[in-house]
Amino acid sequence: MAPLDRLRFSAEASRGRRYPEPAHPYRGAFQRDRDRLVHSRAFRRLEDKTQVFPAGLSDHFRNRLTHTIEVAQLARTVAVRLGLNEELTEALALGHDFGHPPFAHSGEEELNAQLRRHGASFNHNLHALRLVEHFEQSYAMFPGLNLTFEVREGMVKHSMDFNRGEYPELDEFLPGLRPPLEAQLIDFADEIAYNTADLDDGLSAGFFSAADIAGAVPAYAAIFETVESQFPGAPPKVRFLESLRGLIDFLAGGLIEGTVRACHASSAASVEDIRHHPARLACLRPDAAEATARLKRFLHARVYNSPPLAAERARARSLIAALFQLYESQPHHMPEPYASQARIEPSWRVACDYIAGMTDGYLVKTAAALGQNLSSTRGDSPSTQR
Ligand code: MG
Repeated sequence: MAPLDRLRFSAEASRGRRYPEPAHPYRGAFQRDRDRLVHSRAFRRLEDKTQVFPAGLSDHFRNRLTHTIEVAQLARTVAVRLGLNEELTEALALGHDFGHPPFAHSGEEELNAQLRRHGASFNHNLHALRLVEHFEQSYAMFPGLNLTFEVREGMVKHSMDFNRGEYPELDEFLPGLRPPLEAQLIDFADEIAYNTADLDDGLSAGFFSAADIAGAVPAYAAIFETVESQFPGAPPKVRFLESLRGLIDFLAGGLIEGTVRACHASSAASVEDIRHHPARLACLRPDAAEATARLKRFLHARVYNSPPLAAERARARSLIAALFQLYESQPHHMPEPYASQARIEPSWRVACDYIAGMTDGYLVKTAAALGQNLSSTRGDSPSTQR
């Protein structure tokens, strides 16, 4: 018996879908949600969205789609080992980055900065919910993907807790309560996947050496030393990749063990206990948490804040700012149905939805096609004056 069987969220306990549907003859509710996510347009767009390193510099860097697949396999492994619901976990992992705008965090920061001028804010979890509830249109019987309550709840709660009224549009998703463990795992699986992947991509890009990582992260150094003595004749890149695999095992093992310990200590006996527990129970073992904190510091210094990526970020933000301000002031430049929607809703809200759904490539192409119109609004951009 797996250690957390009793805390598994079973599909039979689901609160169901917004528009009731008959059960499928051979797929469970969460399997069906996973399949709907994989067949959505938002999922395919992840392929042309930056994860960290801009596309075009290498054929081997992660994009948001390959990152999502890495998160899904890691999250599934952990869920199965713990005895949790693999299908719910997989659906949540596959949808965890749906709401990410083009150009990774620079896109998110810029849309947020633009929306703040209107007293609003951009949050990729909320945007993901809008995508699966409204913008995906391929079913005759309902708008959106009509996902189960738990998958939608997990999409908005995987990385944040909120109380009633904090996000009025989320009040139906049990504000103040914790999501099931399957959703709590996602953020950790995400973190393990991107920290290790960014080491791999950063090393390939020549931003640092394996010895630099070992100098900053003792847990990696210990694994690296073992690999060095085990495979002294292997090429350096292979020794690094062996060490990276060891690091993933160490972190995933830390997530499994940390979560089991926290659940035992809490004496939670059911999914309801997990929901009402004052804090989340999925967590890393302390040594894995310490290694994660060191990895993050290293990656911030050597990758995210490095001059080449900072320059790329600034370029992306100014492009998004210019496009946003053009659409906001002259919404007729947006295609249908956005242009019409801007007569019903504020144009800034529609501009945000339209831009957030773009891939990196589509945004660049759209901006190039708008040419003159775009450059005329560019000088007024508050973000270009920063
Ligand atoms: Mg992610």
